[in-house]
Amino acid sequence: MSKSLQAIRGMNDILPEQTPLWRYFESTVARLCDNYGYKQIRTPIVEFTELFKRSIGEVTDIVEKEMYTFEDRNGDSLTLRPEGTAACVRAVLEHGITGGGQTQKMWYIGPMYRHERPQKGRYRQFHQIGCEVFNLDGPDIDAELIVLTWRLWGQLGIRDAVKLELNSLGTSESRGRYREALVEYLSAHLDKLDEDSQRRLKTNPLRVLDTKNADTQAVLVDAPKMADYLDDESRVHFDGLKARLDAAGIPYVINPKLVRGLDYYSKTVFEWVTDKLGAQGTVCAGGRYDGLVEQMGGKPTPGVGFAMGIERLILLLETLEQVPEEISRQVDVYLCAFGEAAELAALALSEKVRDQLPNLRLQINAGAGSFKSQFKKADKSGALYALILGDDELGQQVIGFKPLRGQGEQQNIAFDALAAHLATCVVQG
Ligand code: ATP
Ligand code: MG
Repeated sequence: MSKSLQAIRGMNDILPEQTPLWRYFESTVARLCDNYGYKQIRTPIVEFTELFKRSIGEVTDIVEKEMYTFEDRNGDSLTLRPEGTAACVRAVLEHGITGGGQTQKMWYIGPMYRHERPQKGRYRQFHQIGCEVFNLDGPDIDAELIVLTWRLWGQLGIRDAVKLELNSLGTSESRGRYREALVEYLSAHLDKLDEDSQRRLKTNPLRVLDTKNADTQAVLVDAPKMADYLDDESRVHFDGLKARLDAAGIPYVINPKLVRGLDYYSKTVFEWVTDKLGAQGTVCAGGRYDGLVEQMGGKPTPGVGFAMGIERLILLLETLEQVPEEISRQVDVYLCAFGEAAELAALALSEKVRDQLPNLRLQINAGAGSFKSQFKKADKSGALYALILGDDELGQQVIGFKPLRGQGEQQNIAFDALAAHLATCVVQG
């Protein structure tokens, strides 16, 4: 017997019932990015595997065990993108659009792929919206990115539920000195570290700070702190960022253990976290990656950006009941017609009305049906008004106009006057 067809585990359908909330979220972020002067970039979902190995780093969770990698028919190794920054860097280099120190402020949206254990807030196909800025090295632009996200939380009504965590990873030189000190300290407590951390101590010691293991966390309490190893340049940068966040009235906490899952960060790193979603609490994360473009073969080019997880933010909107009611109403007017002659007239009339009111959301009943059944569908559609056309109305060249949500009496409107009448009672989006 053939197995029934199913979507891949951890890859979700977003059903018609849910898409209004997605589109509300996406259009809110898109408008905000536009308003801050960011332009959208669209890159392919598949890239050469090498791109991610070189940018994200070989010894990271993503590259070690989460990538969807396959050979195509030419024998090239390709990978479904696990994140968005690598492709942005490739694209700006390939097209030379950061050459000569040109500033680029861009944003992207789309599905990302990581082979993780699926659970609430963690999927194998998930969606991110992110911003990237190239060729600006000051803390003012780090602050702008954070201010933009803060405004977004305000517009979405979730500001009270998220908290900003900040850290500075310094330049690669100061990070190197810190790494040495950390390795020395952790090596002296090797027996108390979990297995993963013991392995990371050799391959990528800063990632030990990120451990979820309680015993290892206890060892970390007295570990050296990055803040004590920061070079002057990074300290000035970090102070500049904090001063700007203070000026904008954005609260934050310094989290010295914040290191992020990707290798390319330097100086600023930040995360917006919530305690409303259980273990998957980070809804947006980002930081500065001044060395990445050079590492990928370009001229030294400062960069900074963030990515937010759309699924987690949608979950948060639902959990906090911050879903605006009007977004799920997609029909203004539902037209019921009875009998073939009325159906033909209804189609002609509705097309004329659409000519005059291009934004009107008018749904015509399909599949005929009795008065009762058409009315039920009109009500279920969420429409504010029903239009009714039967033989009687057709004879008089009028159409019945019936408010469905208790705003006034039913009346007949002349065909010629219908568009003008609807224009007065339906808000034009
Ligand atoms: P985590 O520690 O939760 O695994 P990460 O450090 O791997 O996150 P990033 O690569 O920085 O995450 O991605 C930015 C954001 O994208 C995350 O903060 C989260 O909101 C979202 N995200 C990352 N991985 C997933 C996933 N597998 N499913 C859903 N959302 C995700
Ligand atoms: Mg991860």
